[in-house]
Amino acid sequence: MIREVMDLVMPRECLVCGRQLGLQEQHLCIWCAADLPETHNWEQAHNPMADQFNALLERQRPEGENMQYAFAAALLFYHHENPYKLIPRSLKYGGNIQAGRFFAKRLGAHMARQAHFADVDTVLPVPLHWWRQWRRGYNQAEVIAAQLAQALHAQLRTGDLVRVRRTRSQTRLDAEARVKNVQGVFALRHAFPAKHVLLVDDTFTTGATLAACYNAVRSALGPSVRISIATLAVVQA
Ligand SMILES: [Zn+2]
Repeated sequence: MIREVMDLVMPRECLVCGRQLGLQEQHLCIWCAADLPETHNWEQAHNPMADQFNALLERQRPEGENMQYAFAAALLFYHHENPYKLIPRSLKYGGNIQAGRFFAKRLGAHMARQAHFADVDTVLPVPLHWWRQWRRGYNQAEVIAAQLAQALHAQLRTGDLVRVRRTRSQTRLDAEARVKNVQGVFALRHAFPAKHVLLVDDTFTTGATLAACYNAVRSALGPSVRISIATLAVVQA
């Protein structure tokens, strides 16, 4: 009985290679933990993920409006042929909330040591459509956001950023189609005082969803608020 409960709380197999875990190991065996493909991109205020995201924002920027550079951080590189993809996937599709918290906490600890994230005061998870969240039972972005808010001593605001309509899954769409698919999908329910908002999602692919959230937050809070992004994984170009 205790073992069954423990299996639910903490899977005893390595998420990546399936090897049986020892008592001291959490979610990953020592071998997979040693090879974790961390991006280290949180260490640089300007990094390839942030540059890609800012380029996308720039294309959508209303003419004549100024924009603050959005900082970006992701814990891991994601590649569909790399078994480490099982870390974000186990949170998103496998219901492994414990693993999600574990890796998000690690990202939070990394980010908390960086000057460019020091003034983050608000954390907003990318919302799921209520129907999808009801079926899944949780929002994976919120699991990550909660850990980041704690690490950065910022306020977690769930339910403020909302999806105003349901969208097709982005998985099979190309970059341009993704931008169109999520345009005008998000809205901020009400404005609130903030200096630096961190938008959080599970994986950064083209950045289309995060850009749509960015535009919603920016139009509600104004251009003086800095908006940055953080995800568990970033797809390797
Ligand atoms: Zn392993």
